[in-house]
Amino acid sequence: MESADVVIVGGGISGCALAYQLAKRKVDVVLLERETLGSQSTGKCAGGVRQQFSTEDNVRVMRLSVKLLESFEQETGHPADFRQIGYLFVFTQPQQVEDFRHNMEMWHRVGLTEARWVDAAEAAKMVPVLNVDDVLGCTFCPTDGIASPNDVTVGYAAAARRLGARLKEGVEVTGIDIASGRVQGVRTSGGDIATRLVINCAGPWAASIGRMVGLEIPVLPYRRHIAVTGSFPAVPRSTPMTVDFHTSLYFHPEGDGVLMGMSDRTEPPAYVTDVNWDFLEKVFEQAARRAPALASAGVKTAWAGLYESTPDHQAILGPIAEVEGFWCATGFSGHGFMQAPAASLLLTQLLLDKKSEIDISSFAFERFARGSLVTERNII
Ligand SMILES: Cc1cc2nc3c(=O)[nH]c(=O)nc-3n(C[C@H](O)[C@H](O)[C@H](O)COP(=O)(O)OP(=O)(O)OC[C@H]3O[C@@H](n4cnc5c(N)ncnc54)[C@H](O)[C@@H]3O)c2cc1C
Repeated sequence: MESADVVIVGGGISGCALAYQLAKRKVDVVLLERETLGSQSTGKCAGGVRQQFSTEDNVRVMRLSVKLLESFEQETGHPADFRQIGYLFVFTQPQQVEDFRHNMEMWHRVGLTEARWVDAAEAAKMVPVLNVDDVLGCTFCPTDGIASPNDVTVGYAAAARRLGARLKEGVEVTGIDIASGRVQGVRTSGGDIATRLVINCAGPWAASIGRMVGLEIPVLPYRRHIAVTGSFPAVPRSTPMTVDFHTSLYFHPEGDGVLMGMSDRTEPPAYVTDVNWDFLEKVFEQAARRAPALASAGVKTAWAGLYESTPDHQAILGPIAEVEGFWCATGFSGHGFMQAPAASLLLTQLLLDKKSEIDISSFAFERFARGSLVTERNII
């Protein structure tokens, strides 16, 4: 029977980054992906990378991710297409300004000193298509930006393979064998594999992998849409990623066009990824309010994918005490592309060195049983 030190379930950004970090430390890894690498949430993602979160741990994790993306090509030999065009959060409600004043203090305290306030007049200069009539203020962080989900996933996967990791596509994990309270192996559509450690990187399907070991992992799938316009010179490639925080409408330059998205906060969770064109009309209505010129931009293409959300919008990282040999790197709640570079490094350190350079205990699964949830509030 085939065997491995570690079996990773899922070949999105989370699984591929982890396979790379483990293989780099000479761990014998098998990654199993039932579709193709990076084809699910990762392939649907907007590529946003930001450090402007509401919890200190997310800011610390994201500062590390940005550092890793800055040196990605040097490290893996593959491009990340990481363009640090900055993120501009736009506020129209007094409460948001108040909340982000606190965030700003915290950001500066934890070292994100380049983040700063921008007033409506400056925002209009940075993003000329922006309607700033009702804007009370904005935050801007110039080291935030966008990277290519495909490039980063392919880069990690290729580098992992070069280091000896076995990444397999078209192989579904169908069960996990447990004996005496610990993992013994996985059952798959391609045969059984003996292992003492399984890491759940199954994104929106993380709960189904949890059920294989008798756990309820609170990750639910929420449909999220993206539309990309044709050529749109009014939003040049240097324009920051711009987020209308009240509606969650966001847009950034994509090629010579514009990529935009918005969350439908009323839609219940479901494994649905077809495009709801009625909802996209609402996206364009909001775009017409916040950036009127965008209303005239035609849609070149649109798609929908799944967020993998937890009740507190925080990832689930690390070992799960109830089942020895079962770990999670999932539940990123719509910020998994940007967090995976740091999360995979920190989990590898925790596994091999028993301590990670950033404390990730606040992301532990046991928080749900304790009921001590600290919700990440800066979600889009
Ligand atoms: C529209 C949209 C926009 C987004 N924008 C951003 C953004 O700007 N920035 C950001 O950071 N994040 C963004 N996200 C979120 C981001 O895409 C996800 O957080 C991230 O891709 C999660 O990666 P993952 O590897 O955990 O999951 P996935 O990429 O979904 O990978 C999980 C994999 O597990 C596989 N799998 C499941 N079950 C099994 C099984 N039984 N056996 C084998 N394989 C299995 C699946 O096929 C899948 O490929 C966005 C998401 C969407 C939908």
